[in-house]
Amino acid sequence: MPAVLTDFPPTRAAALERLEAFAPRAGRAYAEGRNTDPGPGRPTAVSRLSPYLRRRMITEREVVQAVLAHHDARAADKYLQEVLWRTYWKGWLEQRPCVWTRFLSERRRQMEGVDTRALRHAECGLTGIEGFDDWARELVETGYLHNHARMWFASIWIFTLRLPWALGADFFLRHLIDADPASNTLSWRWVAGLQTPGKTYLATRDNIARHTEGRFAPQGLAREAIALTEPPLAAPRALGEPPCPPTNDPSLLLVTEEDLHPDSLMVEAPPISSLLVVADPDLAWGDKARRFTRAAASDACVRIGAHFGRPAAIADRLDRETLAAAARSAGVRRIETAYAPIGPVADRLASLTADLAAEDIVLVQRRRDWDGRFWPHATRGFFGFKAEIPAVLAASGRT
Ligand SMILES: Cc1cc2nc3c(=O)[nH]c(=O)nc-3n(C[C@H](O)[C@H](O)[C@H](O)COP(=O)(O)OP(=O)(O)OC[C@H]3O[C@@H](n4cnc5c(N)ncnc54)[C@H](O)[C@@H]3O)c2cc1C
Repeated sequence: MPAVLTDFPPTRAAALERLEAFAPRAGRAYAEGRNTDPGPGRPTAVSRLSPYLRRRMITEREVVQAVLAHHDARAADKYLQEVLWRTYWKGWLEQRPCVWTRFLSERRRQMEGVDTRALRHAECGLTGIEGFDDWARELVETGYLHNHARMWFASIWIFTLRLPWALGADFFLRHLIDADPASNTLSWRWVAGLQTPGKTYLATRDNIARHTEGRFAPQGLAREAIALTEPPLAAPRALGEPPCPPTNDPSLLLVTEEDLHPDSLMVEAPPISSLLVVADPDLAWGDKARRFTRAAASDACVRIGAHFGRPAAIADRLDRETLAAAARSAGVRRIETAYAPIGPVADRLASLTADLAAEDIVLVQRRRDWDGRFWPHATRGFFGFKAEIPAVLAASGRT
């Protein structure tokens, strides 16, 4: 089995087991140890749940509930906040789709002007910068980096090596198993001083030495981090609710990599008469994420088949032919799926919605209550959002 799948077994059962083992350590142990990166294969204070949360093989709600079963909200404050950073980034980007399209066009533009040798050296870990080279290799080999290593790496990439930020974000997306359009793009923008205009993150030798337990103490790092700049962003768009006309007609349930736990989402949905899980390799950024998603989709197939009491089919094309054929063979005119946030799956679903309408099939995206309640608060900085967390948690429903 590839190393990626042994470090992160691609099943919900493995995610739940990891959560159960971690939850007792989500209080003080996490708060005190979360900034330390002990290096690959060594015990760590962090949960390593990101590939599972990314695909909602387990949901934020489940993670928060498991943690609160062991700690009160104050004791687990740091961990809960980190989980909510994910929700925040997703909601923030959802209201500013132009930031994602700008990243895509910057990536194309920067690729044309870049010093390809310097880029290759950085990606292969051949810059001679202690730590940085190790993280580049660790990322390529394992598909994972500790959060602090991601911050140091991005900072050195932008301010010491002076490489284009969007190509660094692209390098991460191509190798991370948890590769996520919102968390990755907005974190890189945050380090670069674009996300909170003017506020950058500078990696320093002392900080790296302290938090790698002396493994690395790189010389020659940039001494200042002058924020990158960009043209003003378009005004945020209103979130609205995705249209979800009520019906009692049976539906086909479509499961994509954006939400592999539909069992907890479809509680008030119309009857499900047929199940289809799609893992389209063209929608993943890199091989490791692709392999993980394919295996996680097989796991979802078995699980949801048992949950809904009927066999689930698996397909590797998220396209009009596949969906129309599945709907026809199930004898339905409605396809239900979890709402796909900004990214390649969302783009594909948007074009499929129009294509399928031409065949008289309606494609409905169902948003989780969690997102519907939290995302509207992701309008400005995280601090404002954070203040709303207790009230939103108390009010939120089952999905
Ligand atoms: C430059 C950069 C790029 C990043 N790219 C991604 C990415 O593509 N996908 C991704 O899931 N995370 C990304 N992160 C956020 C964070 O580094 C990872 O989520 C975290 O390291 C995953 O390890 P963990 O599960 O052990 O985290 P823990 O510390 O145990 O945190 C628990 C969960 O909270 C969420 N989380 C924690 N920190 C953050 C954060 N800063 N932002 C958003 N969510 C967070 C994750 O879902 C994580 O699994 C990036 C951070 C930086 C600085």
